[in-house]
Amino acid sequence: MFKKILIANRGEIACRVAATAKRLGVKTVAVYSDADTGAKHVAVCDEAVHIGGSAPKESYLRWDRIIEAAKATGAQAIHPGYGFLSENEEFAQACADAGLVFIGPPPSAIKDMGLKAESKQLMEKAGVPLVPGYHGANQDPALLQAEADRIGYPVLIKASAGGGGKGMRAVDKAEDFAAALDSCKREAINSFGDDAVLIEKYVQRPRHIEIQVFGDTLGNYVYLFERDCSVQRRHQKVLEEAPAPGMTPEMRAQMGLAAVAAARAVNYVGAGTVEFIVEQRDDSSAAPGRPKQASVPSGGSEPHEVWGVGGNKPVMNFFFMEMNTRLQVEHPVTEAITGQDLVEWQLRVAAGEPLPLQQDELRITGYAIEARICAENPDNNFLPATGSLNVYGLPECVTFERGAVRVDSGVRQGDAISPFYDSMVAKLIVHGDTREQALARLDEALAQTHIVGLATNVQFLRRVARTESFAKANLDTALIPREQAVLFHQESVGLPLAAAAAVAQTLLRERASEGVDPFSRRDGFHTHGVVQRRFEFEFGGEHAKAWLTYERGGCLHLAVGEGDAAVAGPLVFSAQAEGIELQFAGQRTRAAVYAQGEVDHVFTPLGATQITAIDLLAHAGEAAAEGGRLTAPMPGKVVSFAVKAGDTVTKGQPLAVMEAMKMEHTIAAPADGVVAELLYAPGDQVTEGAELLKLVIAEKA
Ligand code: ADP
Ligand code: ADP
Ligand code: MG
Repeated sequence: MFKKILIANRGEIACRVAATAKRLGVKTVAVYSDADTGAKHVAVCDEAVHIGGSAPKESYLRWDRIIEAAKATGAQAIHPGYGFLSENEEFAQACADAGLVFIGPPPSAIKDMGLKAESKQLMEKAGVPLVPGYHGANQDPALLQAEADRIGYPVLIKASAGGGGKGMRAVDKAEDFAAALDSCKREAINSFGDDAVLIEKYVQRPRHIEIQVFGDTLGNYVYLFERDCSVQRRHQKVLEEAPAPGMTPEMRAQMGLAAVAAARAVNYVGAGTVEFIVEQRDDSSAAPGRPKQASVPSGGSEPHEVWGVGGNKPVMNFFFMEMNTRLQVEHPVTEAITGQDLVEWQLRVAAGEPLPLQQDELRITGYAIEARICAENPDNNFLPATGSLNVYGLPECVTFERGAVRVDSGVRQGDAISPFYDSMVAKLIVHGDTREQALARLDEALAQTHIVGLATNVQFLRRVARTESFAKANLDTALIPREQAVLFHQESVGLPLAAAAAVAQTLLRERASEGVDPFSRRDGFHTHGVVQRRFEFEFGGEHAKAWLTYERGGCLHLAVGEGDAAVAGPLVFSAQAEGIELQFAGQRTRAAVYAQGEVDHVFTPLGATQITAIDLLAHAGEAAAEGGRLTAPMPGKVVSFAVKAGDTVTKGQPLAVMEAMKMEHTIAAPADGVVAELLYAPGDQVTEGAELLKLVIAEKA
C-alpha cells in the first residue's frame, strides 16, 4: 500500500478520499486554489500545497503544478476524484511519465471511453447492446438528417465529447432536425472543443440504470451491482438508489456481465461505471398500473438475447449509453448495499493488489438512497447560489453497521460557497432494510438538514422523495417534470405555524436576555384583565398580523391573521436541545428557528420556511428618525425619560420607556444626535404615533 497520496480535487470527494486514506494509514496531500485557502479538504489532509488561482483552469486543472506538488511532497500516487482531471488521459499519462501512480484506469481506457461515438463502436464489437442510432465518423449534415429519419423520431443528438448533461438536443420531428443540429454543435464546440455528434433513438420514459464495475491489474473483473439514477433534472442526477426497484436477478446478471464485457474490452483497471438507458416494457411486472405507452422498436436484435442468462426474459430492455472512467458521485449507495469501501478498493488495485472480493463473494444488503445537496434555487430553474453557510446543521450520522445515515460533506459551517466550482456541497446517504425504510430515513435526514445563508435544494429533495411516483418507485427520467405541480413554488409550512414559531422564539429570546419574559410580570395583571401584544410579519410576500394574549392562569393565546383566514388557539412551547417544542392550532411540532437579521428561518419536520418579524419599535424609530421625530409605536403611557433636553446621545442609547399593553418598551436612539426637546412628561398617556421627543440627528462625517 502507498505511504502517501496526493488528492487532485476539492470539496466532498477530496474529503471522502482523505477519510479512507486516513483509515488505511496512508498520508494525504491536498492541493488548493486561492478560493480554497481555508477549505475543509485542506484541513482534513496531512499536508497541503497551493497550486494557483481560483478558476479551475488556474489550479485544479493545472496538472503540471499538481505533478510538481506530488513530487515535492513525496506522494507516490494521485487520486483525481471526479470531475476536473479524472477523465483526462493526458494527465493519467503525465502521472505515469513522472513515475507517479494514477489512481484510475490506464490512459488508453480513458481514451477509448472518452468519446461517446468511438466508445460505441468498441462496444458494438464487444457485443454490448446499444441504443439504436448512428455513431459514425461522417458528420455531413445531410447524412445525419438521413440517419435521424431512418432511426425515426424522436431522436436525441448528443455531443460525442459531451458530459454533465450538456450538449444534448431532443428532436421531435424531421423539420426541426437541422436547427437542433446547429445549436448542438455550437454548444459542443464551446463546451468541449469538439463538435462531433451522434444520434440516438430517444427512449421514451427511460430509466437510467448503471453498473459499478471494478478491474484489477491482474485481469480480474467484478460488478458491484446497479444504481438507479433515473431521477434527474436537466439530464443531471438528483436522487440515486441501489438496488434498482423492479430489478430481477436475471436482468442484474445480464447487465452486470454486459458491463464487465465493456470494461474488459478496454482493459479497464480500477473503479468504473457503465451507464445504461433502460426502456421499460409495458408488460413490466416491476411497475404495475403504468399507462400504456407506444413501445420503441429496437431496430436490431433483441438486446437481452445477447446476455441470455437462465432463459428468462428480462423485464426491461437495456442499452449501453457511456462509461464513466472514474469513481462516481453516487458511489456511496453501492458502498451502503455491499458493505465495501470503494476508495479502499481503488487504492488497493492501484497499488497492484488483486480485487478484494470475487463476484460470488459480493452480496446486496438492504436498500440505499443518496440525495445530492446543492447550493441552488430549484424555484428559479436551479440557478446556482453563492453565499455563506451561516447555519450548516446536518443530521447525526449513524454508521452503516447500525444502519442509517451517512453525510459526505465538503464544507463546514461558516464556509463560503464561491462561484468557481460545482454547486454540490454535500451528499446525504441513507440505508435501510427495505426501500420504504430507507425512504423514511431520507425524509427524516433531510428534515434535520438545516442550511441558512444561501438557497439550497434540501426542501425540493424532500418533496421529490415524497412524490407518489418516487414512493411507488414509478421511476423514469421524466419524474421531476411529471410531478412538477407538487415540487416547485411550494410552501410546506403555513403562516400560522411559522408565526407561532417566530413568536415562541421571540419570547424565549426575551426570557433569556431578561431572565423572565414580559408576560410573566404579573404585577397589576389581575386587576387590569388580559394583556395583549401585537406582532407583524412578512410571509410569502404578504403582510400578516398576529396578536398574543396572556390569559388568566398564565396561558398564552395566539391569533394569526385577520378575518376569515385567522387561526387562533392556545400557544404552548418549550425550549429543547433540538429546537422548540411547539403546540398551536391543533398542530404539535418541533421547530428550529435561526434568526438572520429580521428573518427567522424556521425548520420543522413538515418542512422549512422563512418569516420576517417586523420589529414595530425599531421601525417606528427608523421612520421617525428621518425627520428627527421619535414617536410612540403604540398607544400607551410614558414611564420615564432616560435623557433630558440638550443631551448628546449615541445610536442605540435608551431615550425613553413606554408602557403599552402592560409591557414596557424601551425606545432607543435610531442614530447619534442631540435631544432637542421632551414633548411629554412621565405618566402621560399618548396615542399611537404621538411624538415623544425631538432628536437632532448628527450630520454624517
Ligand atoms: P452525460 O455524459 O452528459 O452523462 P449521457 O449520455 O450519460 O450523457 O446521458 C445523460 C442523461 O440523458 C441520461 O441519464 C438520460 O436521462 C438522458 N438520455 C441519454 N440518452 C438518452 C436516450 N437515448 N433517450 C432518452 N434519454 C436519454
Ligand atoms: P456522476 O455521473 O458521477 O453522477 P455527473 O454526471 O453529475 O456525475 O457529472 C459528471 C462529473 O463531472 C461530476 O463529477 C461533476 O462534478 C463533473 N462536472 C460536471 N460539470 C462540470 C464542470 N462544469 N466542470 C468540472 N466538472 C464538472
Ligand atoms: Mg452520463
